[in-house]
Amino acid sequence: MGEACKVVLADSRGLVWVGTLNGVYVIDSKRKTALRYGKGQGMPNEMIQGIIEDRYGDVWVATANGLCRFHSSGRDFTLMVFDSQNWLNDCKFMPLTAGYAAKGKLLFGCADGFYVVDPASVKATAYSGHPVFTSLVVNNQEIQAGREYDGRVILPRALSHTHRVVLRHDENFITIQFSGLNFELPHHTYYKYRLRGLSDLWTEENPADGLGKATYTNLSPGKYELEVYTAGFDMRWSEKPAMLTIVVEAPIWATWWAKLAYLLLLVGAVFWAIRWKMDQKRRQMENEKYKELEDLKYRFFTNISHEFRTLLTLIITPIGSLLRRTQDEEMRNQLGAVSKNAGDLLQLVNELLDFRKMEVNGAKLRLMGGNLNEFVEYTMHKFMPLSEQKGIALRMEDKTKGIFMQFDRDKMGKILVNLLSNAFKYTKSGMVGVVLEKCLIDSRWYARICVEDTGCGISQEAQEHIFDRFYRVESQEASQIGSGIGLNMVAEYVKLHYGRISVRSQVGKGSCFIVDIPTDLREEHKAGDASWHAASETKLIAKTILVVEDHDDFRNFLERELGRVYGKVLSAEDGIKGVLLAEQEMPDVVVSDVMMPRMSGTDLCRRLKENIKTSHVQVVLLTAWSTDEGRAEGYKAGADAYISKPFDMEVLLARIGNLLEKQEKRIMDFSHSISLEVSAIADSSPDEELLKTIIGLIEKNIDNTEYTIDVMARDVLMSRMSLYRKLKALTGQTPADFMRTVRLKLAAQLLESGKYNVSEVCYRTGFASPQNFSKCFKEMFGHLPSQHKA
Ligand code: ADP
Repeated sequence: MGEACKVVLADSRGLVWVGTLNGVYVIDSKRKTALRYGKGQGMPNEMIQGIIEDRYGDVWVATANGLCRFHSSGRDFTLMVFDSQNWLNDCKFMPLTAGYAAKGKLLFGCADGFYVVDPASVKATAYSGHPVFTSLVVNNQEIQAGREYDGRVILPRALSHTHRVVLRHDENFITIQFSGLNFELPHHTYYKYRLRGLSDLWTEENPADGLGKATYTNLSPGKYELEVYTAGFDMRWSEKPAMLTIVVEAPIWATWWAKLAYLLLLVGAVFWAIRWKMDQKRRQMENEKYKELEDLKYRFFTNISHEFRTLLTLIITPIGSLLRRTQDEEMRNQLGAVSKNAGDLLQLVNELLDFRKMEVNGAKLRLMGGNLNEFVEYTMHKFMPLSEQKGIALRMEDKTKGIFMQFDRDKMGKILVNLLSNAFKYTKSGMVGVVLEKCLIDSRWYARICVEDTGCGISQEAQEHIFDRFYRVESQEASQIGSGIGLNMVAEYVKLHYGRISVRSQVGKGSCFIVDIPTDLREEHKAGDASWHAASETKLIAKTILVVEDHDDFRNFLERELGRVYGKVLSAEDGIKGVLLAEQEMPDVVVSDVMMPRMSGTDLCRRLKENIKTSHVQVVLLTAWSTDEGRAEGYKAGADAYISKPFDMEVLLARIGNLLEKQEKRIMDFSHSISLEVSAIADSSPDEELLKTIIGLIEKNIDNTEYTIDVMARDVLMSRMSLYRKLKALTGQTPADFMRTVRLKLAAQLLESGKYNVSEVCYRTGFASPQNFSKCFKEMFGHLPSQHKA
């Protein structure tokens, strides 16, 4: 304890009370505990002047400033203080002045006299209040009874008479005030309260003004119960609490019926989704079935059309030969009519098949570079017989200097054939003409093809519909068969070329169909394209290609495209220059147009193949006139390949690649076999002749070490340089290497004959030393001469 002990009391319970200058100690010797009471425990002063027990077992402690009653409540004590704030005027009690008076009263002495205290009456006046709720503040607004807030009354009666308050979800910041109605000693009012539903812990407070206050923020929706107990200066809690039920309503979207609605919606959505999925599946199945049926129908249609076409061809061909043979005028006329009608029917069937193809596959543009003029001329040419037969002149007026551009050969052909056959179909006399020009529309260059005729013409009204599918002019002579899809298809193909088509026509005077196609169409690079471009950028193939073409744009295009793949590309603008350049430069491949001024491609080919210097050069001919006769003539002239214009650049590259590969392979085969058969490496007879002569000369001079390349060149009437180039091109070897190859092959043949040993063979084939012979032999055949099996 350490403090000075002033008074000691042993009470009726056996507790020892020790009063000090620093509070009172209560010692329980049984339990071996000592409790200290001071200001912290509610005492008015800590200097203890006297301790005395009354007959009720309460212990009174007089201090230097106030009196204190200790009432036992179980293990602990509740304190009741008497000082200047309540009953006492002078509360400076003197030491050791506490004593008993009659009837259980107590005496406490102070400076001016003494107090007589009757513990019985103190007990009777003890406060036993019941708390009441005095005010409710919601969201910082005090709620008045009977007043409307947001259209509703929160408190129909005074709060003190209210047991239940219902608030909305956003009215969740509340303060409730309560009072213990302790008017006598308001500052000795104690409260303990809790809000059940939020927490079960009690909050205790002793407000200075005697009014209690509980504040809650952010109350979530739910039901709460506020319980408040109060106590007076004797710290005895009221027996019953004041209770207030507070209900915070859930927001509309969180109410049970909202949740039910959500659930219903969810169920509905799931149900709908399942139905939709099933519907979709059913529709898909129906579609598939429909497509299958359509497919079947179309396949049947296509098959039957093909049958028609075959049968019609079988009719037309024999009629053609009959027509050529018969002299009988009557017969000729009738057969002519049959042939014409069968021809018309065939065209109709073809049109239907094209249409079908477009429907099923969707038309795709396959652009190829080519000369449009040549192509138009070539297509027109097909109509010559019809023009003669009908006595209708066919003219072409070319106002351009040649248009080299990208277009789809197949579709452009169909556009022209359709327009021209319509022109002939709907014209009785006069002429059909094609005008080709270049025009600038909206700062873009277009090739304009006008197909005009002097036929029946098309009325203004019909002009608006002729490009519609299946549209035919009613009043047209019934004899003209047709399906009304021709012009529709033409319009589609023109559109595919990003072009436009229009018609100008006057009934009875004739029509003019105008087709404009942009000249700058470019093929989007395909995957394959990209690969050869990429490959070419890294490594160009070390070959020389000569392009001979009179049309500048086309020549430049070919030069550019071939230059992406091959190391050296030369060009000439006509046949004669082409031949001269080929003789001079000895290219590996010549790519030449057929129709050129001064010398045609076919003549150029013939000249190159006949000249021993250039006879090994591979020649590829390009032509718009892909007739069989034209081809035959080209091949007769010795062309190695024939390609129709316009063509796909990839096709040309593949063709050239092919020719070069074949040549390489032949050279490889020759150098690794022992055969001296030269037809395998020489394409043309002059080459074969030359090689045979050279081999003959080497054989003849096999043991003549003086036989040099110069002598050999003289013997074959060539310059040393020409011989070198020729042999290099034909065999891939220099003359010296070729001579050695021939000697080694002869050596192998001699060894195989089994008549000679290695050294004999070595000297017979002109090798100066056996070591050198063995080395060269192994390099060529992969084994030593001694290992060579007969
Ligand atoms: P069809 O198979 O009937 O020829 P098209 O689509 O080719 O179908 O033509 C549609 C219609 O346009 C034809 O029926 C014809 O009346 C009219 N037509 C087309 N070209 C000409 C033309 N050059 N002169 C007069 N009428 C034409």
